[in-house]
Amino acid sequence: MLLSLLSIGAAQALVGCSTGSASRDSAAPVPETAPTASPSPAASPSPTAAPIAAAVPGADAGPAPSPAPIPAPHPGRPVVVSHAPGRTRRIALTIDDGYDASTVAGYVAFAQRSKIPITFSPNGAYRAVWDRHAEVLRPLVETGQLQIGNHTWTHKNLLHETDAAIRADIEKNEQWIQQTFGITSRPWFRPPYGAHNHHVDGLAGELGYTRILLWDGSFGDSTLLSPEQLIGLARQYLQPGTIMLGHANHQTVLGLFDQIEQLIEQRQLEPVTLDTMFGTSRAVG
Ligand SMILES: [Zn+2]
Repeated sequence: MLLSLLSIGAAQALVGCSTGSASRDSAAPVPETAPTASPSPAASPSPTAAPIAAAVPGADAGPAPSPAPIPAPHPGRPVVVSHAPGRTRRIALTIDDGYDASTVAGYVAFAQRSKIPITFSPNGAYRAVWDRHAEVLRPLVETGQLQIGNHTWTHKNLLHETDAAIRADIEKNEQWIQQTFGITSRPWFRPPYGAHNHHVDGLAGELGYTRILLWDGSFGDSTLLSPEQLIGLARQYLQPGTIMLGHANHQTVLGLFDQIEQLIEQRQLEPVTLDTMFGTSRAVG
């Protein structure tokens, strides 16, 4: 932990999300989507109900498959992590925020095409950007290629918030994640800007977020970088065991996915989700 803190402090590139994203966060609240529950004429009950019921596809094949239930929170003592355990060639790509629609779409397409495991930690404040990809992302979440972490709804610096506000910010994002991606984000919590202390960690732990997720490598793209700068940081930090931080906020990365993928292959790194790296699971939470 000490080492990781030192390394984070040592490199300007390793800063978390820029304050620029915070001001965007607070700009325009995204309206809640109205439920689409309007009954259609085709759904009207028919007088010949029995034959219709018998004709339901799969009716004889037992109960219809239902999404896995969301596990209850497991409150506990929080642990801060910033690197893979043990000697390993695994890396974790952890991509946050998502306030730029093109960058989020690019990451979604990259995940689909490359099959590379990624952990996204989106803010629900940007749900207008993320929700349109839910149908594509959900199957990838179900297979375990993708995982979703909790990065709060509004992306505020939690060191300046009340306990009640911190809890609400985490829980609102969790509700959205459950509804949108069909899984819990617990126990994974990434504090905005990496700003945390024992008190914030303790509040998160009480809500079941017992893994406080930091990082020890970064694409540095919380601010706008040139392609040369970003790929330079990728070369520097994509090393065995790295938890790599990136942001779906700036489009620089879109032209670099092939190079990043080649770098991972050349170095024989194994990208994995946090679940795979740390043995957590969506069934347990
Ligand atoms: Zn962030």
